[in-house]
Amino acid sequence: MSVVVQKYGGSSVADASKFRLVAERIMRTKKEGHDVVVVVSAMGDTTDDLLALAKQISANPDRRELDMLLSAGERISMALLSMAIRELGGDAISFTGSQSGIITNDRHIDARIIEVRPFRVQDELARGKIVVVAGYQGVSYRKEITTLGRGGSDTTAVAMAAALGAEWCEICSDVDGVYTADPRVVSAAKRIGVLSYEETQELAESGAKVLNAQAVEFAKEKGIAIYARATAGAIPGKDPSLDGTIVRKLAPRLPGSVVGVASEKEVLLIQSRKVSGLLRIMDDFGCPGKQLHISSMARDQDGVTLVISKENLHQSSKLQAHLTQHDPVALWNDAIGAVSIIGAGINASHNKVRAGSQALEQSGIRYYGLATSSFRVTWLVDREKVEEAVRLLHGLFIESKEPVVPLE
Ligand code: ADP
Ligand code: ASP
Ligand code: MG
Repeated sequence: MSVVVQKYGGSSVADASKFRLVAERIMRTKKEGHDVVVVVSAMGDTTDDLLALAKQISANPDRRELDMLLSAGERISMALLSMAIRELGGDAISFTGSQSGIITNDRHIDARIIEVRPFRVQDELARGKIVVVAGYQGVSYRKEITTLGRGGSDTTAVAMAAALGAEWCEICSDVDGVYTADPRVVSAAKRIGVLSYEETQELAESGAKVLNAQAVEFAKEKGIAIYARATAGAIPGKDPSLDGTIVRKLAPRLPGSVVGVASEKEVLLIQSRKVSGLLRIMDDFGCPGKQLHISSMARDQDGVTLVISKENLHQSSKLQAHLTQHDPVALWNDAIGAVSIIGAGINASHNKVRAGSQALEQSGIRYYGLATSSFRVTWLVDREKVEEAVRLLHGLFIESKEPVVPLE
């Protein structure tokens, strides 16, 4: 029988009444004749609430203990969802990440999945059960509980789909797919029908929360199509590509078109002249770099500019103290965000960089830095200006002309 993996995010299970709706959708899928594996996130804002609780106890909570705490959120959901399915007459069993065979490296807070051994999941599917897996967590090869970084339940779902050879992998959320910008910020944003892995990865890495970047990386590596759609939407029939957004291998688009605008509010900008020491401290704190820039055009003028995401950084005051000790004149800017435009080949000329920078300047939005890759242009702006900048760039590059990217 064909296996289908469905992931339901926190907003889909935000309160007790929502569990029933999700359970009904799962039961409909099961009745269509599929084997169903469900990956579920923590309820509503549970992960944020647990983090806030930890901060009341310790300003710089230990990473291992945070994993023990945060993984509890998904455990609550898995048990409740399994109960909700049983209430509808289904036969469900819940498993933690560890019980499901999600094996990770030994890095706490943002561990990477290195292997999936889904034997227990397969055994229960063979018994006809619906298997509910707690997202966002695994167990390291040292038998420690780990979590996969914020938004990591998406990664659990894709990894499970790959390991089980699933027919499709659905990521169900409060939005019905990936839009040209966050629809909560830009009312004119449009749903994008099909995206390539590369485009989606760039969007996700630039802050589009709807799909997790590591999940997309995993899907690309294993050649799995991801279907992003609304939990409230219909379950797919024979052709799962009829609504939402499909992320799959895609022939390159016309180079130079902007597919979407994404933003990340919580980033940190650090500048120091003491390069190697700074990078060592970053590694000691498990801080992956987002952008790293070292320049040495003139003697004694070299230094490092580092942009890091605060998403999985839970010890920032301790990090700042270490940095100041290492380099008392290092600059630390914790009041900025990043706004990016994404599209293959958008930097073939400097047109987009010039147009975007000019529009920001004309609107009085100061930018502190600018970085480009072949797929994106990123501006660093004041955190409180991020949404305004997103609307401006969306208006400029997406609303103002006929879309080059087919949206439906
Ligand atoms: P879940 O709890 O289901 O994992 P998330 O909160 O992680 O959901 O992601 C869904 C949210 O992502 C939406 O509510 C939307 O506001 C936001 N979002 C940001 N960028 C985009 C985008 N480009 N397309 C769709 N949604 C986006
Ligand atoms: N609950 C985790 C988070 O809020 C994981 C997830 O939702 O995917 O980041
Ligand atoms: Mg999410």
